[in-house]
Amino acid sequence: MSKLIDKFGREINYLRLSITEHCNYRCFYCRDDKHTPNCKREDILSYENIQRIVRLFAELGITKVRLTGGEPLIRRGIVKIARLISSVPGITDVPLSTNAQLLGKFAQKLKENGVNRVNISMDSINVEKFKEITRGGNIAEVIEGIDAAIAAGMYPIKINAVAMRGINDDEIGDLIDFAIEKNIDIRFIETMPIGSAGIEAASQYMSEQDILAKINQHLKNRLTPLISSKTDGPASNFKIDGTKSTVGIISAVSNHFCDACNRVRLTAKGDLILCLGQEDSISLKDAVRSDLSDNKIKQMIVDAINKKPEKHEFNSAIDNISNRQMAETGG
Ligand code: SAM
Repeated sequence: MSKLIDKFGREINYLRLSITEHCNYRCFYCRDDKHTPNCKREDILSYENIQRIVRLFAELGITKVRLTGGEPLIRRGIVKIARLISSVPGITDVPLSTNAQLLGKFAQKLKENGVNRVNISMDSINVEKFKEITRGGNIAEVIEGIDAAIAAGMYPIKINAVAMRGINDDEIGDLIDFAIEKNIDIRFIETMPIGSAGIEAASQYMSEQDILAKINQHLKNRLTPLISSKTDGPASNFKIDGTKSTVGIISAVSNHFCDACNRVRLTAKGDLILCLGQEDSISLKDAVRSDLSDNKIKQMIVDAINKKPEKHEFNSAIDNISNRQMAETGG
């Protein structure tokens, strides 16, 4: 089994695959109000392009492919895409990131086609606030989606909530209670200064410490730290004593977890992004549509991985990434 190792000795085994730039929500910290993706059908990778790229990555050592976007469930053929990816030899883990608005419709079919687990973005359980944050979202549909994922046997199911001062910091306890009630996990995310919407939202930023203080205030002494494995990514996790749930914090801004980074991102248009907090990328779209051999394309990927930056520069190079919307990058 081959391994994809970058020049800092990190093993890259995780591909985050965005399959559309479009989203049915317009979360204010993710997407500019005025921004609409300029993305024609021929611009985005076809099913065949996606399957070929995933196969080449798998031959190089990638084992985990996360479906993300934009909102992956609005891409036509999502179930087929899940099937194509999960049937690639070597791919053993196909999680999904979704806002869950359409999960009620797709959870069972996705599970049958290889999507074993799901992260669901949900920043509020208050009907009005949820609508405001998402600019029109319906929390009842999201809860329906969560219930469908539970019924389909997806495991684990994690809620991801961006913690924002003055927006939803008063709901941290309610969101935790919701997760406990559903026997699922919850993680709070630091706001990242990505794209102009993210940079603007950074004024509501809460650090890991701020978030942990709120969690502790709600749960008192009911937290047992979990030892995280190197592949957990930028999250610290705790078991909530007396429940089946865990709570975590994704602190990509206040902590550099870059020495353990095991991931790269592929946009819907076929750009391979080597680091969420840096500009570097190469296009694979033309390569997979040309008559370049598999070996040549694999060499392109290996060369790109060798250029993966040592660490993100969220704090010092905001200008570099300010033009890249999170929804286009693939969250
Ligand atoms: N539509 C899917 C979803 O809702 O999970 C996948 C894409 S979305 C861009 C992925 C994640 O990125 C969501 O959890 C979202 O909250 C998060 N996100 C977007 N912009 C962010 C920002 N500026 N800071 C932190 N997280 C952000």
